[in-house]
Amino acid sequence: PFYEGCVDTKEYIEDKSYRKMNATFVMLTRNEELRDVLYTMNSIESHFNQWFQYPYVFLNDVPFTEEFQNKTKEMTKAKVEFGLINELDWNFPPYVKESPLFKEAMYDQGDRGIMYGPMESYHKMCRFYSGMFYKHPLMKQYEWYWRIEPDVDFYCDISYDPFLEMHIAGKKYGFTILIPEIYWSVPNLFRYTQSFIQKNVGMKLGSVWKLLTYNLNIMKTDDEEIKDWVHLDKDLDPKLREKIMLDLYKEGKLKGTGHEEEALDIAINKAQSKKPLFEDKFNNEEYNLCHFWSNFEIAKISVFDNDIYNAYFKYLEENEGFWKERWGDAPVHSLGLALTLDFEDLHYFRDIGYRHSILKHCPKNSIMQSNKDFPYQENDVKYRRKGLSSLYDKGTDYGIGCRCKCPRS
Ligand code: GDP
Ligand code: MN
Repeated sequence: PFYEGCVDTKEYIEDKSYRKMNATFVMLTRNEELRDVLYTMNSIESHFNQWFQYPYVFLNDVPFTEEFQNKTKEMTKAKVEFGLINELDWNFPPYVKESPLFKEAMYDQGDRGIMYGPMESYHKMCRFYSGMFYKHPLMKQYEWYWRIEPDVDFYCDISYDPFLEMHIAGKKYGFTILIPEIYWSVPNLFRYTQSFIQKNVGMKLGSVWKLLTYNLNIMKTDDEEIKDWVHLDKDLDPKLREKIMLDLYKEGKLKGTGHEEEALDIAINKAQSKKPLFEDKFNNEEYNLCHFWSNFEIAKISVFDNDIYNAYFKYLEENEGFWKERWGDAPVHSLGLALTLDFEDLHYFRDIGYRHSILKHCPKNSIMQSNKDFPYQENDVKYRRKGLSSLYDKGTDYGIGCRCKCPRS
């Protein structure tokens, strides 16, 4: 965290080294979501923006109603702007919309039980956030943005300016929650990402790439160890050894032996070797499905609006995964950012208490804190179940709520 505990905000802002950044909140939303939009605004205003007064940009594919505009403006002293997204940026190109395959793809994703799969509007939303939001004329005015959504809780006072602190620390992209994607919404995203990299010869990946992938070579178990366990001779034909491993795996005999992963590696390698699409160095790499949960982002617009990310989005668009599959903006952002960003460019806002939908991040319930106040045990299923995020970010949410208000006069 940039600060431990509370900052005296008044002093912070009045300090002569403080400067307000060229930054805005941004929210794509619908008129019908007004109530939830006001809920979010109330939360962010009371915990942060009443002191900092960063403006808001609301974007919509249809015009915002008078009521929406008036009610949102009443929530804040800061500037509020309303943007209409043009038809070309929001919709799929006519040749896609008119293709019989398009409807088929929606039905099919519904039949296969893919979350939001049959919802055309959801596909458009994901596509828009993947490659369009930062190009909107209202967004172009700014250097930084903070993405928010309807129905969000900010539990804790944010008593400093995250834009300024990120700037000072040289950070470019900030997140609160990192989770795995549901595999079947992005089955081919990684293959296309790899082929994009292949086509852009000489492209150097950021170290964030390592966070999102695993290298099957690294996971290989030592041969000696296997020999001890399955009595496989070192000189045994490798193909036969693989077969034995796979058979044992299928029969469930590897459970608890610590060799399940190796068998899985073999299975994945086998599947991949059927389609040698990429050079060797890629054959042993797989997407681990991790992504920054993008409904919260504090970032520099330039992490997206640059030649590499723009070309990446264009390539994904041409390969039609925004409708043939249900590529979400979160995995697309994450993989796209991994092309250019290094770990040092990231900032984990572990001090920002955040909830959207059923996932939340509670900084006050850190392991240290809970050991004192709350006898949490790591394997206690009862507590782990209460907050999904605890499965991903151990020690941040045990479902006892976030209480982290700073004292104010
Ligand atoms: P989820 O958080 O993944 O369940 O996705 P949401 O349904 O919350 O959508 C993400 C964001 O896009 C929210 O801010 C929605 O208000 C917005 N959104 C989703 N679909 C549409 C749409 O069809 N039109 C507009 N204007 N906004 C949308
Ligand atoms: Mn949402």
